[in-house]
Amino acid sequence: MSGGLLLAIESSCDETGVALLDGPRRIVGQAVASQVALHAGAGGIVPELAARAHLRWLDPSLDEVLADAGATLDDVGSVAVTAGPGLVGSLLVGVSYAKALAWGLGVPLVGVNHLEGHLYAAWLLDPGEPDRPEPAFPLVALVVSGGHTFLVEMRDHLSYRLLGETVDDAAGEAFDKAGRLLGLGYPGGPAIAQAAREVAAPGTAAGDSPTDRLPRAWLGTSYDFSFSGLKTALRRRVEAELAADGLPASEAGGRLGASRVAALAAAFEESVVDVLATKTLRAAEALGARTIVVGGGVASNALLRGRLAAGAAGLEVDLVMPRPGLCTDNGAMIGAAGARRLAAGETAGPDLGARASWPLARPAGTPDSRRPPTRGGAARAYARARDAEADAAGRGTG
Ligand code: ADP
Ligand code: MG
Repeated sequence: MSGGLLLAIESSCDETGVALLDGPRRIVGQAVASQVALHAGAGGIVPELAARAHLRWLDPSLDEVLADAGATLDDVGSVAVTAGPGLVGSLLVGVSYAKALAWGLGVPLVGVNHLEGHLYAAWLLDPGEPDRPEPAFPLVALVVSGGHTFLVEMRDHLSYRLLGETVDDAAGEAFDKAGRLLGLGYPGGPAIAQAAREVAAPGTAAGDSPTDRLPRAWLGTSYDFSFSGLKTALRRRVEAELAADGLPASEAGGRLGASRVAALAAAFEESVVDVLATKTLRAAEALGARTIVVGGGVASNALLRGRLAAGAAGLEVDLVMPRPGLCTDNGAMIGAAGARRLAAGETAGPDLGARASWPLARPAGTPDSRRPPTRGGAARAYARARDAEADAAGRGTG
């Protein structure tokens, strides 16, 4: 006999997340096993190590969550799992685990888009947190993670209109690359934020000092984003400062003095946050949104949170940003999206597979016929994702 709790599993990247939800919003138990330390030495995620670590951590995470919630597997009435986008090897670990559990328990299974999870994190309620109203539609949602950066409009549940997306690097990826350039280590986002705080308190414009100011890619009036020019500008700045000190240019600008690293980190953070916040607020105003929702690892950035909070208050729009632990990858957000999908009648069969690439929304008027990027990092990322997907399909994931 099974109960009414939803068990959710996330394994798309470098965090093993397991959660139990009671209803579509309430977390009753959750555990996240992070692999940051495992991959830090390599300066980025090693896919094979990531997949093995998920296998290692799923069982103990599930045990922890059940104990936390005072529940047993008999209390589980449905299972949700991230089916993409992400690293195929890592996804397959979670998908296989979820399928086995759902089949063994005789309960429905649903495959969840990880990006939809980041967005639905805004609906979550922690254990013991007082009830609060759901984010009101229409809303504008910004997803900013290590692999994705986009802005969508939602007029109802599970329905998305793409307003803009990055044309090259994701915001988190840009933070990670800048972190490497400044010799700050991986992941770059928190490291840059911390280094920048040494210049001034969060929320001040220290990163915008005229001498250190880095460029912003506004891309006209579009809601698209671009961060690769900023990264190049930062690299040139680091190289020029090293040259001025008579030092050789090196990939890791670790030899710049700490105060220069702090100043450049602040300038970089300011540039990324300025563009993200300005475009999100502009979209909310133009579309008459009642709510702004933000998700993804970069949404834990304090400067971004402060900037959006001030802007949203000015527009009299509600801002919903999950606490930082729910912005980075976790199982609860997959449960929040999965619960909505299940309520809409969606279930997955035993043939549920893993999808390396799975856009949540495509640009208006160009449904599946959108032409892939032909140049630069976007083209390379696209080719990698397409190959991985073909690979997974060829191998058969059912
Ligand atoms: P993904 O789903 O693509 O794995 P996550 O949602 O887990 O990404 O977010 C990880 C990303 O968030 C990393 O690129 C990291 O640098 C970035 N990040 C985490 N904390 C911060 C922060 N405080 N400021 C800026 N970026 C951050
Ligand atoms: Mg993520």
